[in-house]
Amino acid sequence: MIPPNDFHRQWAATSDDVLRAVTRVGESGWYILGREVEEFERALAEYWGVPHAVGVASGLDAIELSLRAIGCGPGDPVLTSPVSAFATVLAILKIGAQPVFVDCDAGGLIDLEACRELLRTRPDIRCFVPVHLYGHALDSRALRALRDEFDLHIVEDCAQSIDARSHGEPAGCIGRFAATSFYPTKNLGALGDGGAVLVHTDADAEAIRRLRDYGQSSKYRHDVIGYNSRLDEVQAAILRSAFLPRLPEWTEARGRIASAYLAGISSPALRIPPPPRASESCWHLFPILVEPGRKAEAIAYFRAHGIGVGEHYPLALIEQDAMAAFREDAGSASPAAIDFCRREISLPIHPFLTEAEVEQVIQACNGWR
Ligand SMILES: *Cc1c(COP(=O)(O)O)cnc(C)c1O
Repeated sequence: MIPPNDFHRQWAATSDDVLRAVTRVGESGWYILGREVEEFERALAEYWGVPHAVGVASGLDAIELSLRAIGCGPGDPVLTSPVSAFATVLAILKIGAQPVFVDCDAGGLIDLEACRELLRTRPDIRCFVPVHLYGHALDSRALRALRDEFDLHIVEDCAQSIDARSHGEPAGCIGRFAATSFYPTKNLGALGDGGAVLVHTDADAEAIRRLRDYGQSSKYRHDVIGYNSRLDEVQAAILRSAFLPRLPEWTEARGRIASAYLAGISSPALRIPPPPRASESCWHLFPILVEPGRKAEAIAYFRAHGIGVGEHYPLALIEQDAMAAFREDAGSASPAAIDFCRREISLPIHPFLTEAEVEQVIQACNGWR
């Protein structure tokens, strides 16, 4: 079976560097918020092309801490994408804010034109968490125009979009904050949990540093109600020494596989959802759409052909039981998102696929009728 991710091959390719990084941390005798986190934060900020990165415990926390730093709180409406990992909306729910969904476009990403229409009628909405889903970058010009027209505080969810670009600029440069995740399956994944917030000013970096460390500005001085949300030294060391240097090569491999799929998949019973205009994707995932009502059959078909497909996601966020109490106020129904989730499956696109495996996936796709 071709798995959606191949951590055994990743380990074989990286273990020497990983073990050296772990040894370095072990020998240092310093395991929380030390030199490794600082050096990784510097390396990540430079890689991303933003002034600061601040390591935190997860992508979920990166979004939540960013919203807190904005001053978003109980009852505040927060505009967000209807199709995403649950963590996106969970960060909004955890601070007591009120998620507001706008429906998705044909590619499954939030429809920025529909956002404009809603924002015209909802001047109370000041916070926006757009998601650069699947590794596709939302249109940076449209996002910037929305930010400026409606004076929005934006937290960009970049958990899936490190290395993605729109109109040549990296995803994550328009919001006041961008949140990313080092969950193992992400394009830059740790050997455990981790995340980071990308920011543009010293003050915003300081605010996130304080929030992640019990709200303290200096040892035993607690200014705000904070969190324990720190990136471990050992994960930071692994990310900086073993994985970040390989990321360009991995992103390129994902791009090559995506090109092969785009050129090779021709079954009339499958549709490849279109990425946003001007997106240079980092292909975190490769979603395809089957006809309504045939998803379970398609998943079984692909598995029978040795292909471990995934689902991103089986339900729109608004359909989750945990959202029940918020559904009514979450506003516009999301019929396109619900339809998209009924039809979406994801092909394997990790950087360790062989050419023969890519060909096997294409053949299976083209055998689907
Ligand atoms: C993975 C993911 C998150 C959450 O990241 P964690 O590190 O797992 O908390 C948030 N948003 C999106 C779009 C994701 O894919």
